[in-house]
Formats: sequence, C-alpha cells, structure tokens
Amino acid sequence: MKKILLQLSAVCLSAALCLPTCFAARTHEPIVQVGLAYGSGALTAANLQNSDGYGAGYRFGYFDQDLEFVELGYTDENLDKITMLRASELYFDGTQYSTEKPSGDYETIGCYHVVLDYFDDYEEACDLAQEYDGAFVAWIEDGYQVRQGVYETMGEAMEAMEELEGDDVSGTSAYAVNVVETGETQLLFQFDGGSSKSFGVMPDVTEEEDVHTWFKGYRYRGGFRYQRINGGDLTVVNIVDIETYIKGVVPYEMTNSWPLEALKAQAVCARSYAYNCIQDRSHVSSNFDICTTECCQVYRGVGAKVSNYQANERTDRAVEETAGMYALYNGEPIVAYYSSSHGGASERIDLVQNSSFAKYPYICGVIDPYEKNVAHINSYSSWTKAWTRDELTQRLRERGYAQNTRVESIELTYSQNGNVVQSRVIYENGKDQVFTPKMSWGTRSLFGLSSLHFTINGEGVKEDTAVTRPGSSATGIVVNERESLNLEETLYVISGTGKTSELDLEDTYIISGTGKVTVLEVEEEETVFESDTPVDTVVTITAEKFVLEGAGNGHQMGMSQFGAYAMAEEGFTYDEIVEFYYPGTRVKELDQK
Ligand SMILES: [Zn+2]
Repeated sequence: MKKILLQLSAVCLSAALCLPTCFAARTHEPIVQVGLAYGSGALTAANLQNSDGYGAGYRFGYFDQDLEFVELGYTDENLDKITMLRASELYFDGTQYSTEKPSGDYETIGCYHVVLDYFDDYEEACDLAQEYDGAFVAWIEDGYQVRQGVYETMGEAMEAMEELEGDDVSGTSAYAVNVVETGETQLLFQFDGGSSKSFGVMPDVTEEEDVHTWFKGYRYRGGFRYQRINGGDLTVVNIVDIETYIKGVVPYEMTNSWPLEALKAQAVCARSYAYNCIQDRSHVSSNFDICTTECCQVYRGVGAKVSNYQANERTDRAVEETAGMYALYNGEPIVAYYSSSHGGASERIDLVQNSSFAKYPYICGVIDPYEKNVAHINSYSSWTKAWTRDELTQRLRERGYAQNTRVESIELTYSQNGNVVQSRVIYENGKDQVFTPKMSWGTRSLFGLSSLHFTINGEGVKEDTAVTRPGSSATGIVVNERESLNLEETLYVISGTGKTSELDLEDTYIISGTGKVTVLEVEEEETVFESDTPVDTVVTITAEKFVLEGAGNGHQMGMSQFGAYAMAEEGFTYDEIVEFYYPGTRVKELDQK
C-alpha cells in the first residue's frame, strides 16, 4: 500500500461574483423536509451538480429552526459539481470516496488538521486560506477557522503545525461534514455544528430565478441538508416550500398528459396529504417530514429529463392554479389517501387498515360510477386470477397455515360497497382461518390480487346489484313486475311473497325473515357513514377451482386516479372530484376555515 501525497493545490474560495441571497421561502407557506437518502440508504459521499442554465455555484450554511437558510460561505459560479463527505477517516481511490481503505493507491480525507487562525468573517478567513497550500475555511460551532492539511495521525499534524507556526491541531466531531469538488480531495469547506446544527447547501450564487440541481439522477429545486444522525452517514434532505414540493409530486403520481382538472385534483390531494405528514413528522427518526416513495408519495423534483416522467407546463399549471388549496374536513386538511383505481368502489378506512373511522370520517367509501368509463386506458380495469384447491392449499402451507389439511371452501364477506372485507378459508378438517385487508399478509396477499373488488366463481356482489344506499343513483325499483316504488322519497319493506309496505324514513326498523316490521328505538341520531354494520353480504364458495374476477389496483381508500381522469373528462372540476371521493370535505384555502 502506498500513500499518495496530497496535492496541496491552493484553495480558491473566491469572493468574486458572490451575490448571497436569502432562501427564497414564501414565509406563509409550509416548508417541507423531504428525505432523499436516509436510514440504510444514508450516504458516505453525496454529490450535487448544477443543472445547465438553472443556477451556478453553491452557498454553504445551515437551516435554522424555522428552516430559513443561514449562509456561512459560498463558492464562485464556476464550480458546478460538489461532493459532501462524512468527515471521518475516508479514502479516495481516484473514482470513489469510501470508509474502507482501498487495496491500491489512495488519498486520505478527514482525520487531523492544523488550525492556523480564528475569524468572525468568512471573507477574511478566505483571504488567509489562499496564502497556504491545502488550507480551507471551516465553520466550527459558531465561528470560522482556517485549517490546513489532512493528516492521518496526530503526530504528523503536530509536526506540520510547528512548521507552519499554526495555533493548534484538531480533528472533527462525529457530526462534521467536508465539502470537496467532485472527484477531488482538497477540502473546500468544513462544517461542524455539533448535534444541533446540520450542514446545508443552497445551490446558485447568480440569483437565477429557477434553480435546478442534480442529485442521484433527478433534478430538484430548493436546498439540501446533510445530517449525520447519531454520527452516521449523511442523511440527505431536500428543503422546499410546499408548492414547489407539490410540483415535484404531481407528475410522478399521475401521468403528466392527463386532463388538467384531474391533475389539479391530484395536486390538492398531494398537498393535503403532505400537510399532514409535516404535522405528524412521519419520518421523525430520520428528521424529515416525508419520503420520496409510495410509503408517503412519489417525489422526483423537476425530474430526470425523460419526457413522460417529469414535470411539464401542464403539471406546474395544475399546482399553480390550485396554490394554497386543501381538502378540508372541519377546517383541517385531510389525510388524502389516493390510489390508482378501485374497480368500482372505494372503502371505509377501518375495513381496510388499522385506523379509526372516527379519525378519518371522510375515508368512508363511495360507489364510483365514473372509473369504468376509462377502462380502455386502465390495464387493471378487469383482471382474473385462478387457484385450484391444491394450489391455494400449497400457498397457505408456505405461510405456515393449512398443515395436514386442505382448503375446502372460501367464505367472502362483502361490504356495502361490494368490496371483500374478510375472507375465511374453511379447511377439510373443519378448522378455518380468517384473512382481512388489515393484516400484513391479508386478503390481497392470500389470493395475489391488486384490489379488494372481486368475486369468486361469479359468486359475490356484482356492481349492478349492489345495495342501494343514500347517495346512490337508483331512484326506483319494480317488485313482482307490478309495483314501482320510489326509493328517493320513501323506504319499503318487501316480504318474501313480494308484499310491500311503506316505512317512515324518520324511523329505523327491524325486519324479520317473514317481513314483519318493528320500529327500532334509536337513542342517538345516526349519520350515514357511522353504521355499526357496514358488512352486507356473505357468500361461501366450495369448488375444485376458484376463479377470481375483479377490477382495480390500489388500497381502496380515497380518490381513484383513473376515476378522477374519468370525472375530468365528463366536465367535473377539480374541487368536485375531490369532494366526491372524500365526502364531507370542502376544497378551500387553509386560512378560510
Ligand atoms: Zn414515507
């Protein structure tokens, strides 16, 4: 192993053309902290590159408690690629920065430095740094230092200090970050704010209005934070105002060529959802609000310069024309769950996941007459899956179920909206096993399905025979081909013989199997969505082969994106679309509570 001598090129953090500006935060808007790299994906080395024509150079500093950028230093505009490094024993083999010592030639970055002097002013510190080979400006716990060199041992650093007549020798804490030009080893800046302040970068020193910066294959607006949580690798967080953030969500959650009103509905949902992530601090252990995957919602900033998978004028317009608009329930932005398609009806939240319906009363499930109108563009508008008894038995055995027995039949429980909210597998030995959508390996996993809207061997709730309920479009029904009943104004009970009797809508009734009607005494007024018996139909299928036919792709909650497309095509506006999928909400500005 051979240690390469450091190339002690002069540090030129030129003050020329430096036009520091404040972080362009519109202070009345929420700021979003988006996790780009974190947890096991945290980085030893994190690159940034200016996007040509969208800003040049970089400003260094940190984001304060209000997420305002506090500037501490800057580069000139000719520097377009920088790399933030975990400041610890770190090696560069000519292509890669790593904490593993390379087997071939390498240079060391980190370790010990000579402290030459202390400053309150960045530019004065820069002036001194330019006088020494290998010197750089560091910001250490509220003050500037000019430091020199990178030494693997304290002894080497002491020797250098005597030679240079320096003031001290110092390492860095477990929270420090170094900055180099990408592919180089000379430090441009060092930041050590201890555990309380983390290094921040705001790209651009030219006052460009629209700044785009490359990070891991996508371009982002806004600033970047590099935090060493518990002294580990760099957690990279993009810090942007919420409207800019939403511009980086809409084109990745919905195709950028879709109808404008659908894109606007998507913007309102994404904004409302993000607002709640900020309140809930859903990724608090990594110190950011929201991640970039389906876990929260997909965010790719301005994109990767791929025409159908990036922001465009249309998606930006959808965000701008709905700026500040949220779906509000009782004046608060809702947790606007949405997914690709439901196959005919969304579902009440507590039947799908372990959440309280009282907390999310607007995720109550709606029958969707629109989604099917765009079936021709939705590859999940219908699907079929088949299992023989033996195949299903085998699948269950692989999960530790169905030991020493076989599947005999399947019992499906349907909700009022025609979604399967429970599946019971009945075994030949008389035992059974219940699967619900709430289980981590539940109904959809059991059968390998993409939604909960399905039948088995044709036994189940078909859309056109779904139960009529308040809000549905049915207005009349014919009984025994002789009597037309108006369901909009009155409620009827129909006996087994077809005899009908009119009921008063003010009351609730108990109806026996023979059609006998008793008025139920109800103490509290019930609302439509708080039925205690949302379950409607139970069917049992016994067969050698189970053919599952269904529609939809998603978790069955909130807005259907294909439904939004269809509604937009029919002339509905974005607020009508949102208010349809989240009953009881109003699309409004937040301060118009
Ligand atoms: Zn997430």
